[in-house]
Amino acid sequence: MVSGIRVAIIGAGIGGLTAAAALRRRGVEAEVFEQAPQLGEVGAGVALASNGWSLLERLGLIEGLEAIGSSLGNGYYQLREDGSFISMLRPPGATGRMRVFGVHRADLIDVLRTAVPESAIRTGHRLTGLAQDGDGVDLTFEHGATYRADAVIGADGIHSVVRSELGFVDAPVPSGTAAYRALVPVDSEDMWEWGTSKLWIGPGRHFLVYPVRADRLINIVAVVPALGGERDSWSAPGDPRELANAFAGWDPVIHDLIDRIEHTFLWGLFDRAPLPGWTEGRVALLGDSAHAMLPHLGQGANQTIEDGFALAAALEGVDSAGVGAALQVYEALRRERATTVQRVSRESGNLFDMEEQARFEDRDERIRRIAPFYAWLNQHDADSLVAPDPAPTHG
Ligand SMILES: Cc1cc2nc3c(=O)[nH]c(=O)nc-3n(C[C@H](O)[C@H](O)[C@H](O)COP(=O)(O)OP(=O)(O)OC[C@H]3O[C@@H](n4cnc5c(N)ncnc54)[C@H](O)[C@@H]3O)c2cc1C
Repeated sequence: MVSGIRVAIIGAGIGGLTAAAALRRRGVEAEVFEQAPQLGEVGAGVALASNGWSLLERLGLIEGLEAIGSSLGNGYYQLREDGSFISMLRPPGATGRMRVFGVHRADLIDVLRTAVPESAIRTGHRLTGLAQDGDGVDLTFEHGATYRADAVIGADGIHSVVRSELGFVDAPVPSGTAAYRALVPVDSEDMWEWGTSKLWIGPGRHFLVYPVRADRLINIVAVVPALGGERDSWSAPGDPRELANAFAGWDPVIHDLIDRIEHTFLWGLFDRAPLPGWTEGRVALLGDSAHAMLPHLGQGANQTIEDGFALAAALEGVDSAGVGAALQVYEALRRERATTVQRVSRESGNLFDMEEQARFEDRDERIRRIAPFYAWLNQHDADSLVAPDPAPTHG
């Protein structure tokens, strides 16, 4: 059934585009308003786990996704800094299949936008304010344009304007760590153990590697203590020599990759405190605006994709009078699960970046015990009105 409501989504990142496509699939029309003059993403990778990937497949994007993805289904290896083995994870996905893929963010945006009509994406629209009454929400954009919607979804990232319009004016929380990100072109077959992602964990830092773009690029995320002053920006440059020094003495496999890096970005890692609510009347938050998290479980985008599908399930067939109640259903489906993932992402970062060598045996044991939590993450199917299972205890 095609619903008559007008949904306005603020932000055309992974969250906004997925939500628009998922709503459309359930007969709900949505317009996406993006501040940037054109869609795009900075050059970095993102790992799509089974819980996110299996949802995107349902948007009819499977061919496009397989063309841009690098399968990581042979396992996620966790190693000490010298390359010795701690643990390997290969959890089954929601469909019983292991579907984990490394993708380049720009490629993912290109695929997602094919699931949303071009006419429904309005670039160059920076939201500056909103006001709601009993019947709808009025949006105001920087260049003076206005729009009235029945429902507004803030998918506008960690610095969300919609979030602050709901009265949440707290600042992003610095983690005390910063991440180097780099992409290395693949020029030989033996550059990587294809089908795997690997995480090296050592005193105070960790180093994550997986291929993206159908194995044509290798994506690197190297987390180090912040010196202070690193920007919360995805395009601040880093120095490959400083990256090499930060991992001096680690597994030579890491240094073979670092030696090939020409450009690297370095940005401070921030998350947000959990919110007491994501919804007010006809306005709701989604993705990083609702639950910005540290990247240590690789779940920020995956949880954002889950949000979009749960939102679509909640809004299907709803008329304008039912929007507020439907958004409450969406929040009830999502907030507890995403908040748990937010918290465990922080805890995982603290565990990976532990300094005290005397506690490394205990650290490794805790890393081995996280498998049921990963299974819980991967096996949830957010494309329904069924509440997620509570998280298993872990670590
Ligand atoms: C180092 C690092 C590694 C990561 N790795 C992974 C990973 O492996 N797996 C994973 O699942 N997640 C990962 N993540 C997290 C993931 O990238 C984010 O959670 C995800 O991109 C959030 O999507 P979003 O759409 O909510 O926000 P964003 O991607 O930030 O998109 C927000 C959009 O809103 C627009 N916007 C902002 N303000 C306005 C406004 N006022 N008006 C209009 N438009 C506006 C922006 O221009 C942008 O296009 C990682 C994050 C980091 C920092």
